[in-house]
Amino acid sequence: MACVSYPYEYDAPVSQNLFDRASAVTPGGVNSPVRAFRAVGGTPRFMVSGTGPYLTDADGREYVDLVCSWGPMILGHAHPEVIAAVQEAVARGTSFGTPGEGEVVLAEEIVARVEPVEQVRLVSSGTEATMSAIRLARGFTGRAKVIKFAGCYHGHVDALLAAAGSGVATFGLPDTPGVTGAQAGDTIVLPYNDLDAVHAAFHAHPGEIACVITEASPGNMGVVPPKDGFNAGLKAACAKNGALYISDEVMTGFRTSKAGWFGVDGVTPDLMTFGKVMGGGFPAAAFGGRADVMGHLAPAGPVYQAGTLSGNPVATAAGLAQLRLLDDAAYAKVDAVSREIQALVTAALSKEGVAHRLQTASNMFSVFFTDGEVRDYDDAKKQEAFRFNGFFHSMLSQGVYLPPSAFESWFVSTAHDERAIERIAAALPAAARAAAEATA
Ligand code: PLP
Repeated sequence: MACVSYPYEYDAPVSQNLFDRASAVTPGGVNSPVRAFRAVGGTPRFMVSGTGPYLTDADGREYVDLVCSWGPMILGHAHPEVIAAVQEAVARGTSFGTPGEGEVVLAEEIVARVEPVEQVRLVSSGTEATMSAIRLARGFTGRAKVIKFAGCYHGHVDALLAAAGSGVATFGLPDTPGVTGAQAGDTIVLPYNDLDAVHAAFHAHPGEIACVITEASPGNMGVVPPKDGFNAGLKAACAKNGALYISDEVMTGFRTSKAGWFGVDGVTPDLMTFGKVMGGGFPAAAFGGRADVMGHLAPAGPVYQAGTLSGNPVATAAGLAQLRLLDDAAYAKVDAVSREIQALVTAALSKEGVAHRLQTASNMFSVFFTDGEVRDYDDAKKQEAFRFNGFFHSMLSQGVYLPPSAFESWFVSTAHDERAIERIAAALPAAARAAAEATA
């Protein structure tokens, strides 16, 4: 373990050197935009190792990790049983380009856990899962239009990069160059949590809408859970109008409960998408649902979809090992850790008189610097996001790694123990003061 002495220097010379080298050979120095710290400023920390709830950076500083790789590391880093499963799989070879038993067992585990999933297809990223689900919905219904919600992020799928959250929210990009009118023209973007808008869209486009895709409980504009009855209303509107209801559980799947958000609200989607937790830290993702819809996928049906590394034996071994460890006790632990941290954050910000609102979706949560309820993307954007930067850097300098954006969920794991929580508790008062003192 690194020798801990706070606060850490603002400078991180080894990370900075790596970032300079990276910037010469990689656009913006990173392989996924939010990692570059552009929203909060400063040097992105290059991590060299992770154990349990901790990450250690290239300057030898240790952090309590509240990002957990943006969700996947629900058992903490380098869980011994996951690592053992990976080592065993790796020793047998890394990719065969044939079917293998591991992918069958992982598919069986997903089908057993999530009742609406009768059949599932494995892919390598959440983006691939949502892209393929949309194609399948269009192929199945013979319709072109897709409804999505502002602030919901479904990966960097061309048709879905309209009013997306996550990195797109962080950078305030309304859309992105490179997506043509033809690719986004069939996407209808509606305000989240607004069923009237959904009914109006179906009314305006009779027989044209293939599907509604929504984050099961959004985490990419910060945590904005669905209002009571919203997901059920989406399902009913889709059923009435011959469209498919796609629940994107890439973030919530196998995190918010054993059966993801479906396990919380019980609304049965036609198709679902998964990623993050089910890969155990490796590139594995999936989409699945009604057997009659999935039966339209090649080679059973005409809708093409494929992948050289789909069902990769190492990734499926990691995912399966992680899912098998995620029993009721594990979820109870993650939920308890989350509640404890939420209470500490609320107490610290309240003590400093900082207007804030904690929103939760089971163990996912985020802090909005506003005192009003956040029901949609417009509400989220009204927060005093400038307060987040000082808060973030104060936590970082005291050895706590938060998502480097005010528009992201925080993630915890079963490995966050008393010592980790004590460090968070010790860091929060100064961070709350920094938030209070921040100016726009
Ligand atoms: N869908 C949701 C809800 C997500 O949160 C994400 C990523 O954060 C994706 C899809 C895309 O997944 P990936 O980054 O694995 O492509």
